[in-house]
Amino acid sequence: MIVDRLGRQFRNLRVSLTAACNYACTYCVPDGKRLMKAQNEMPATELLKAVVYLQQATGIDKIRITGGEPLVTPKFDDFLLGVTKLPLQDISLTTNGQLLLKKKEVIIDSGLKRINISLDTLNPLKFQQIARSGDLETVLAGIDAMLEAGLKVKINMVPLRSQNGQDILPMLDYCLDRGIELRFIELMRMGHLVSGGGFQQDFISMESLLDEIRTRYEFARTDAPYDSTAARFAIPGRGTFGIIANESEPFCRSCTRLRLSSDGYLYGCLSSSRRQYIGDIIDEPSHVALPKLQKMLLSALDDKKLAFQGEVTVMKFIGG
Ligand code: SAM
Repeated sequence: MIVDRLGRQFRNLRVSLTAACNYACTYCVPDGKRLMKAQNEMPATELLKAVVYLQQATGIDKIRITGGEPLVTPKFDDFLLGVTKLPLQDISLTTNGQLLLKKKEVIIDSGLKRINISLDTLNPLKFQQIARSGDLETVLAGIDAMLEAGLKVKINMVPLRSQNGQDILPMLDYCLDRGIELRFIELMRMGHLVSGGGFQQDFISMESLLDEIRTRYEFARTDAPYDSTAARFAIPGRGTFGIIANESEPFCRSCTRLRLSSDGYLYGCLSSSRRQYIGDIIDEPSHVALPKLQKMLLSALDDKKLAFQGEVTVMKFIGG
């Protein structure tokens, strides 16, 4: 078993299908350029092979499909239909929701049960200002379609003081009304935010979020699974919400995440640019590939930090 001195293992794999995104969110894409792929992105067949080998080499039993924006790439359908056939305990998808209506059928056909949709505001103008593209109504229709199809929906919101700081309660109400768990993601010092880029002005801490929510609701903290990224809270009679408090309450000591980028690199930690290429190993037979992968995974586990320290790599290249 591959385990470090803190008892951390890799259990969750995040696979970035492409670094390209149809949005260019202000806090994620510094140059505002959309749809920029990484060089030499792997096809769906290779990514699926990598998932199978990584599953065999470690105890991975949970997969999240992410990006970039996973729904923009033509390989999405093949990857989704392939990965949902694997014996995994949990498969989920993170998307900005802009293409959900177009991909509804394949998502339903695949049998996917859970989906996380990123949405930072319900105000169409602010939506355009933050995402620098896209259309709010289309995303909201996509959310309704997923709920109607019976998927468990979570919404991720990054609260930013200067942009959507007023939208915390409206977003929470919208989610509670629909039985959706809203997860606030504290702004992370990634990419241009690592060296300023408005991080201090825009950051809203877990404490400030809870103070704001307390003005409308009574809530209590509830248990979260050991390796959960989110602190969870219950509002009696209304529902739950979560806070991914990377800065206020780092969860690095129980992190079980491993990331595979669209161009075939493994990342053991979001706060480290150290990476290892596995694109050539997965073409080898398993008795050759697995020992090599296990060595790499040990090294990737060693990259895990004790707290998030900021990272120059842009989130969309590693797979958020
Ligand atoms: N395109 C997909 C989406 O929007 O969900 C998947 C990739 S996106 C990089 C994954 C998540 O990372 C989104 O919820 C986004 O808001 C979040 N994110 C990106 N940069 C961030 C940052 N600097 N701090 C906090 N969250 C960030």
